[in-house]
Amino acid sequence: MISLQEARAQIAEAVRTLDPAAAPLAEAHGRILREPVASPEDLPAFDRSAMDGYAVNAGDQAERFRVVGEIQPGVEPFFEIRGGECARIFTGAQIPRGASQVIMQEEVARDGEWIVPQRRDAKTWIRRRGEDARRGDVLLSPGERLHAGSLSLLAQLGVAQPRVSPRPRAIHFTTGNELVDPDKIPAQGQIRDSNSSLVAALLTESGARLIQQGRCPDSLDLLVDAISATPSADWDLLLISGGASVGDYDFGTRALERVGFTIHFRKVNLRPGKPLVFATRGAQAAFVIPGNPLSHFVTFHTAIRLAIECMEGSAPRWPLVQAELTEPLPTMPDARETWWPANVKPGHEALLARPLPWQSSGDLRVLPATNALLRIAPDAGAFQRGARIDCLLLDLPG
Ligand code: AMP
Ligand code: MG
Repeated sequence: MISLQEARAQIAEAVRTLDPAAAPLAEAHGRILREPVASPEDLPAFDRSAMDGYAVNAGDQAERFRVVGEIQPGVEPFFEIRGGECARIFTGAQIPRGASQVIMQEEVARDGEWIVPQRRDAKTWIRRRGEDARRGDVLLSPGERLHAGSLSLLAQLGVAQPRVSPRPRAIHFTTGNELVDPDKIPAQGQIRDSNSSLVAALLTESGARLIQQGRCPDSLDLLVDAISATPSADWDLLLISGGASVGDYDFGTRALERVGFTIHFRKVNLRPGKPLVFATRGAQAAFVIPGNPLSHFVTFHTAIRLAIECMEGSAPRWPLVQAELTEPLPTMPDARETWWPANVKPGHEALLARPLPWQSSGDLRVLPATNALLRIAPDAGAFQRGARIDCLLLDLPG
């Protein structure tokens, strides 16, 4: 059985990056930039006033200046400032020829068409052409995830249609004769399907797009039919919930083989989530995820998200940090790498990790408070209160 580290290496090796395409800025949010972006001009493109005030020649020490014109932002000044003259100017407006300083309006007394500076700053209050960036400077690099700040910079640079990765298109099927919709009252022996909601939300959070979701009884033929119903060219990632192990009714792996997928691994030395199956068919990737909801949660964050990141061409998001345990953790029963749900928050000196009570892989009560997973290495032994532990943060960085 392979380790999680080995499983992640196999996923990174096998999953292909999707071809980029141009997208409008509003649709590029959260996606990966796939081209370098250079500034098409100096930034700022012209000398601009940093204040509301009066533009003068910095060397002109006259006691008073005549106001010879007004310059609003967006208007090119057509006059020049000479000795003893100034121009009324506003923040962002272009500095006129002959001027090299702006005196803040708070620091002058105005008297009709004259101003009398009350004091003169050493600062010029001018944002110089090219002081932020020079024409040709590369300001954004391929592989960056575009957030609000990057989108505003792209807009400033005039890149209205950046080349970005498409959102990986996912299809998802739950399997299990026992499952009913969340709005139904389960009959004896049935349970509500919670994985559909979990997977849909995790896909969205990760940057993928769920284009088809369905529920399938425990039947190999029906599962194969469900997978084949969406044209193959329309999706990149297939997730099958449940049916990952080798029980009589576990058809996930067999269905993948039937539709031509190559199985890369069938098990990972992981708790929860051991019977995780990973397969590819050309540029498509698939996982069969053990049905337990907590196994879903853990395998999604530790393995499946990596496949989405590889398709996007993003660096793997793996924010593993050290935190201090607020409660002890017991010795694990076997040499399985364990990921324990926890709530992490900043303390005075370190991050504090509170392990959440975890009864079984079907116990969903811990998930609302879970914002991190604690990594317990195989054979780690018990952890005392206050011990340091590796902790995977689930609020994803950009
Ligand atoms: P399986 O991997 O199919 O053997 O399922 C393992 C456990 O997860 C069983 O107790 C299932 O009832 C439960 N389970 C499977 N699918 C779901 C689902 N969609 N929602 C909630 N629980 C599920
Ligand atoms: Mg099942």
